[in-house]
Amino acid sequence: MIELRDVTKIYHTGPIETLVLKGIDLTIQAGEFCAVIGPSGSGKSTLMHLLGLLDRPSGGTYRLDGLDVTQLTDIQLSQLRNEKMGFVFQNYNLMGRATALENVMLPLVYARNYPNDAKERAFEALDAVGLSHRLNHRPGELSGGECQRVAIARALVNRPEIILADEPTGNLDWKASYEVLDIFQKLNDQGHTFIVVTHEQEIAQHSNRIIELIYGEISSEKQVTVPLRASNQLIGLPEANNGSTTQ
Ligand code: ADP
Repeated sequence: MIELRDVTKIYHTGPIETLVLKGIDLTIQAGEFCAVIGPSGSGKSTLMHLLGLLDRPSGGTYRLDGLDVTQLTDIQLSQLRNEKMGFVFQNYNLMGRATALENVMLPLVYARNYPNDAKERAFEALDAVGLSHRLNHRPGELSGGECQRVAIARALVNRPEIILADEPTGNLDWKASYEVLDIFQKLNDQGHTFIVVTHEQEIAQHSNRIIELIYGEISSEKQVTVPLRASNQLIGLPEANNGSTTQ
């Protein structure tokens, strides 16, 4: 599904060139759940931006389902991104004045054809993350974990094959983190491909494959034979106090 060959990324800051990715070779199959780990500054977010078609490599090739995406125009790239990718970020990136339902409907507004059933689809996505009772709440009226679940629903609403998450549990306590991972694992069971950037080893242990990046190079790759199941870790934890802040 995803095939990177000798991919490099150079940032230019005035006269200074910074080589951030130094020839990445990476193949990710449909249905995988990959974690990308590594210390701060190792290039994880840069790699995620390239994989998510939010940025272009400086060199090398990126094939997505056989298509060389480095040859596409900006408009073609954004269409492909809308169709295939969903994004989840550490800070949720929700619109503060919009309700949960409106936030989730937003990607459909940017889709090529606005679906007639946009509202129903947004409702379904919120239902899938357990938030059908919070449709009209605004982000300020939701806990951190609930905000992240709205963001996951927003990532899902275009029915993407691939979900990319950059430190999705970085602002959450363990219980809210397990809830997010539980949703990811259930979606992965249904066939969505996941690529999750994290600096936490325990988060990475929920994936099937750990890719370690150090100084812009893949330093190791390993399969996780028995990934941790977040649903098991949630057993016995106290119920969330609805409306509380899970920071
Ligand atoms: P990580 O996600 O592993 O913390 P990043 O991909 O964010 O790493 O950053 C890798 C390196 O690239 C860092 O040294 C960072 O300062 C640099 N970098 C990231 N984005 C830019 C940019 N837009 N311009 C210049 N340098 C950047």
